Amino acid sequence: MQKSLQSSSSESADLNRVIGWFISLRWTACLFVFATLLIVRLKLNFQFPYNILFSLNALLFLINLIFTVYYYRIKVQNLSRKEMSILFNVQVCSDYILLFLVIYFTGFLENPFSYFFVFHIMLTSLLFPPAMVFVYVTSLLAVFILTFFAEYFTVIPHFPFNSTTYDPVSYHESIFMKATGLCSTLVVSAYLITSIKSRVEERGKRIEVELNRYKDLDKTKSNFILQVTHELRGPLAALSGYHEMILKGITGGVNEKTQHTLQKADHRAENLLTIIDEMIDFAYMKSDKAAQYSKVGIKLRDAIGYNLELFSARALQKKIHIVSNCSKDLIVWANRDLLNIILSNLITNAIKYSSTGAIIAVNATLENEEIHLFVKDNGMGIEPEELEKIFEEFYRTRRARKIERDGTGLGLPIVQRAVESLDGKITVYSELGKGSTFHIFLPRHESESLSSGGEDGEQ
Ligand code: ADP
Repeated sequence: MQKSLQSSSSESADLNRVIGWFISLRWTACLFVFATLLIVRLKLNFQFPYNILFSLNALLFLINLIFTVYYYRIKVQNLSRKEMSILFNVQVCSDYILLFLVIYFTGFLENPFSYFFVFHIMLTSLLFPPAMVFVYVTSLLAVFILTFFAEYFTVIPHFPFNSTTYDPVSYHESIFMKATGLCSTLVVSAYLITSIKSRVEERGKRIEVELNRYKDLDKTKSNFILQVTHELRGPLAALSGYHEMILKGITGGVNEKTQHTLQKADHRAENLLTIIDEMIDFAYMKSDKAAQYSKVGIKLRDAIGYNLELFSARALQKKIHIVSNCSKDLIVWANRDLLNIILSNLITNAIKYSSTGAIIAVNATLENEEIHLFVKDNGMGIEPEELEKIFEEFYRTRRARKIERDGTGLGLPIVQRAVESLDGKITVYSELGKGSTFHIFLPRHESESLSSGGEDGEQ
């Protein structure tokens, strides 16, 4: 249901764009016809019914003016797809009628511009379903044939293309061949474009089916990883807890050598837990559950404070100083889990990739109705050519692999997905050896409901 709604809204957006494009094309045509008529009248010796032609030109101007006002003022976007389609058909019909009248009053089949109908038919075949194309082509052919016979039997007058060289006998001799040539070109063009279009559409549908199948498989894989990593996490966390109990002497005394070995084991277990947590986040972001995030207003200062607190011990170990500046009134429209994922990953990276004694700043400001969150460090920085790759899944820079053996290269892709799920954007500025700044744009709070941003729930 949601999918069909989405596709119909994207079709409406496409049609809306096409209507706008046709309006611009019509303005060009209007100008072209006016300039041509003016040049032909003033400089060339063609005897056309100029009053009628300039009136038709003025009519085209007026019709397009109405369409333009309707398009920009009344906002075609608000129309339903059916109404839009009717509007488009009215536009196309008026184009056909006006073109036909201009061609009729300037020599009909004698006029080389009569082949402009081929472009019209090509566009019609591209934009309309085959049934509509059939209606347009047969109607046009019917009008052509009727006019042809009406002129032939002098029921209606013929307006010669060039009255000085016009010879009624040779015109009547050649008109049949010209009519056949034009009509068959129109039919062949319509047939070719319609069949090429249907083949392309068929391929597009097949690709879409494959893509959906791939997406389903990817989701199944992510759900599986999510389940497995969850299962792994429990025993590993328990193992880490037992290590801690032994190290604290709760289970009895341990000698120094055993304590040292246990500390190493605990460190490895902690690293493994971090990796598993990243994999859980990554799989979670890709699974079905990711679509179900609900957003609330969250006090950004609380969320930053909560995450800084979480990693303060790690920062202290490296004698890293963390400063933060965020107004207490700044409220972000976000999901708390996602916000914590973003902050925790960026803060741990800043700590991980900075040397002892570094300074990290986590600041947020409100600018142009958007929240700007900065996580800045004066650590090792990133080489310019690696900068665009760091958001790729599993990518780790050469220097990072040297400094930190344990790492998945999943932190930043997770952050990027989380930011996008919150309708935000992320960019990074970095200079090798000088540090990096991750800049996140997030939508500000619009609703009344507030959440503190930490683990402890809503206010
Ligand atoms: P991981 O940290 O597990 O390697 P991430 O996806 O979090 O994976 O980061 C990808 C890469 O981006 C890192 O390997 C590192 O090279 C680089 N990077 C991320 N944050 C920083 C930072 N604050 N300073 C320098 N490099 C960084």
